[in-house]
Amino acid sequence: MSTEALGTRPFDLSEDHRDIAALARQFADEQLAPGALEWEHAKDLPLDVLKLGAESGFGGIYVGEEHGGSGLTRLDAALIFEALGTGDPSVAAYISIHNMVAWMIDTFGTDAQKTRFLPTLTTMETLGAYCLTESSSGSDAAALKTRAELAADGTHYVLTGEKQFISGAGTAGVYIIMARTGVPGPKGISAFIVEDGTAGMEYGAAEKKLGWVAQPTRAVLLDGVRVPVENRLGEEGKGFNIAMSGLNGGRLNIGACSIGGAQFALEKSLAYVREREAFGAPLANLQHLQFELADMATDLEAARTLLWRAASALDAKADDATQLCAMAKRFATDAASSVADKALQIHGGYGCMTEYGIEKVFRDLRVHQVVEGTNEIMRVVIARNLLKGAR
Ligand SMILES: Cc1cc2nc3c(=O)[nH]c(=O)nc-3n(C[C@H](O)[C@H](O)[C@H](O)COP(=O)(O)OP(=O)(O)OC[C@H]3O[C@@H](n4cnc5c(N)ncnc54)[C@H](O)[C@@H]3O)c2cc1C
Repeated sequence: MSTEALGTRPFDLSEDHRDIAALARQFADEQLAPGALEWEHAKDLPLDVLKLGAESGFGGIYVGEEHGGSGLTRLDAALIFEALGTGDPSVAAYISIHNMVAWMIDTFGTDAQKTRFLPTLTTMETLGAYCLTESSSGSDAAALKTRAELAADGTHYVLTGEKQFISGAGTAGVYIIMARTGVPGPKGISAFIVEDGTAGMEYGAAEKKLGWVAQPTRAVLLDGVRVPVENRLGEEGKGFNIAMSGLNGGRLNIGACSIGGAQFALEKSLAYVREREAFGAPLANLQHLQFELADMATDLEAARTLLWRAASALDAKADDATQLCAMAKRFATDAASSVADKALQIHGGYGCMTEYGIEKVFRDLRVHQVVEGTNEIMRVVIARNLLKGAR
């Protein structure tokens, strides 16, 4: 694939980066884009296509190779998720959540947990779900109420509570659940790996929603769920830190999926203005639309550049990585939503029609301004760091 097809001018990317992006874009063009509307209609994930993606290394992008992962960087991941987002932002975003779960086990898990869970997560035979949000706590995640009580004999915890809006719930096999083991606030939270089928764990009805329709969103209901002590992820009381460190990369990926979806909408718009005529000439002759297209492309390049910088900061474990990830998520998801909105307008009535694919991207990208920390919470993170004196 030419780099132009990805919509980038990667003067600062290596040959390897370009190859990775090209592989992911080919997968998006051949495997995701053709099925996107069908999966939206079916309201569920295309499990076979996900397994096929895992064969290309998308099931454990930054999981170590010794556990079946691809051992790639966050910058590589940003390139992959942009490319996947051109085919289907909804499925691409779910692959991002799955990768976040696999990375958390690879990074914070015991050898036994890695050996047990990573081989089938990286092949995507088993899917992952990330369970932080509750019905009464989303942005204020540290206020979560789900309890994990250590049994008197110390062999297991008993989890009781509910998790709200969980992507992949009911379809996934491995759930990382944040629950309270101690004091109120972030320091009393621990993380647990809970498998589908564990007694006492059930799922709510599939939510009907604006976007991300091709992936199920359900509540996870926990009623006295016995979780062996060896399934606690990390130390007791470290669950909130683990959950937040997973989100840094998740935010980059969601930003990248947004850029990919918007890139698709831009490419469609460029083709449309050339072929559609009004007032006796192609729409492309109208300077207003030329300026709209110029702004769309410029905003995407700016978003892409910030996202790559944030990804490099995360790879380097730089002090300002969290700050840059929040900036990149906020900027990329806002810019991409605006591009999708403009693309819909450029397509006129056809933009509102499902078969053109633009209205789906518009809806999927709108979700990205809310999930993985809302864009207001991104501003909270950025402002907090600014006022602390960090860059
Ligand atoms: C389709 C979908 C899939 C999801 N998947 C998952 C998942 O897999 N796992 C998971 O754990 N969660 C998931 N979520 C939950 C998502 O992360 C939360 O919805 C999000 O964090 C916002 O929380 P909330 O809905 O409780 O909104 P609230 O926290 O109630 O916020 C409401 C509004 O107030 C604003 N606000 C809140 N606090 C502040 C503040 N301090 N300053 C300024 N503004 C503020 C918010 O930005 C928002 O605009 C999903 C959500 C959706 C819609």
